[in-house]
Amino acid sequence: MKSLIDQQRAFFNSNQTKDLKFRIGQLQKLKSLLLSNQNRLNEAIYKDFGKSPFETFTNEFGLVFLDIDEACSKLRKWAKRKRVRTNWVNFPAKSYIIPEPLGVSLIIGAWNYPYQLSLAPAIAAIAAGNTVILKPSELPLNTSNILAEVINTAFDPAFFHVVEGGIEETTALLEERFDKIFFTGSTNVGRIVYQAAAKHLTPVTLELGGKSPAIFTEDANFKMGIKRLIWAKFLNSGQTCIAPDYVLLPKSRKNEFLELAKAEIEQASYSIENGNYIRIINDKNLERLKNLIDPDKVYSGGEIREGQRIIQPTLMHNVTFNDAIMQEEIFGPILPVITYDSLDEVIPEIKKREKPLSCYLFTTNSSIRDKLLHELSFGGGAINEAVMHISNSRLPFGGVGQSGTGSYHGEAGFRTFSHYKSILQKATWFETNLKYSPYSEGKLKWIRRLMGMK
Ligand code: NAD
Repeated sequence: MKSLIDQQRAFFNSNQTKDLKFRIGQLQKLKSLLLSNQNRLNEAIYKDFGKSPFETFTNEFGLVFLDIDEACSKLRKWAKRKRVRTNWVNFPAKSYIIPEPLGVSLIIGAWNYPYQLSLAPAIAAIAAGNTVILKPSELPLNTSNILAEVINTAFDPAFFHVVEGGIEETTALLEERFDKIFFTGSTNVGRIVYQAAAKHLTPVTLELGGKSPAIFTEDANFKMGIKRLIWAKFLNSGQTCIAPDYVLLPKSRKNEFLELAKAEIEQASYSIENGNYIRIINDKNLERLKNLIDPDKVYSGGEIREGQRIIQPTLMHNVTFNDAIMQEEIFGPILPVITYDSLDEVIPEIKKREKPLSCYLFTTNSSIRDKLLHELSFGGGAINEAVMHISNSRLPFGGVGQSGTGSYHGEAGFRTFSHYKSILQKATWFETNLKYSPYSEGKLKWIRRLMGMK
């Protein structure tokens, strides 16, 4: 690990990554590598999750290719030095801000979207001119193996290298000094990463999780809202960091919601028989999810096929905030529904809990929408939609509080992996002498005036 990091630091110090053409070239090389290995990459993720090529494109590589294309086309603009106004105190001078790469970056990925969550931060890091050590999650073994093979055979390890492994290898990596650590995963491991980074004062971005609520109001368009909600919840079998975790629903519309949601689940292609249903990542998680299902509260679904690691999309009703399913992030295909009499009782319940990564509001009432947006703090979200905010790269993506710190995607990703160096460039043809001794009342008066004070 140490020698790999030393090699990367030497490569960074050679200034090659400062050249924008070099960065664009490496991003294009990454894209063509992924395209030429598409079939093998698809097969690997199918072995790990049963993920079809359709979904592998729509929620893994499609987003990765968009990121690469956007970075290549906007990089010159993002990396440009930016002039800002100079204040009178510094006259005559120019002031500007130069984005510069941080150096050697460590990216630690999560398992649930193993390509996208590893490659999207790597693209941002490369676009910003850093070198990258990527540690994908070890849980989807086939995808981790093929990522390492494809990247490590094509890229100079001094610039971009995949290190495979689990806790032991990540712990060893975290002992070392990096210039940036970007972590995606659970809040608990986020804490470990943050502590390790503190030793070296390394800046950190933490993309964590939490329980993201979906709130329906009386006036919501239920038909459209439920269609979108159900898709978002059961995408990747609920193993999505920004999946709607639970639903808050006006009591008066409970039956209507449950019937429509059940019908939507049946109508959507969640039929396990067609082979397109995503498996739970491992037996440990299957067992954890099994224990969260209270059979007395199952409205529909609930069937579990242990050998195949499949849990049928499951709707739970009559749920309260005290139930086991409300004590942790679900991260699986179970949707609990909690009913309320008034929104005024719901808002304090959400505020009592940790700030979620996402929140989804299903409402047609603009004053309720604005009230909820004003009162609730969360990473990001959507109105009358769920999950899809992640696909707009103009929206910085990240959490707040326990759901994360920092953000990325599009220009936000470039900023996350950059330092903004501030420069005051002074002219030499004039000097007011105001700041030098001997001091006088007259000089002070001028200084106050130049500072915009009376
Ligand atoms: P995890 O925290 O278990 O693992 C993430 C990474 O950390 C893996 O690469 C793993 O090898 C490493 N790791 C695990 N234990 C470690 C330890 N003790 N010391 C050092 N490294 C360790 O998370 P996960 O199970 O892969 O992912 C699920 C969680 O991630 C959920 O909470 C989910 O919400 C969150 N998540 C967040 C985002 C986001 O973008 N905000 C995206 C995906 C997942």
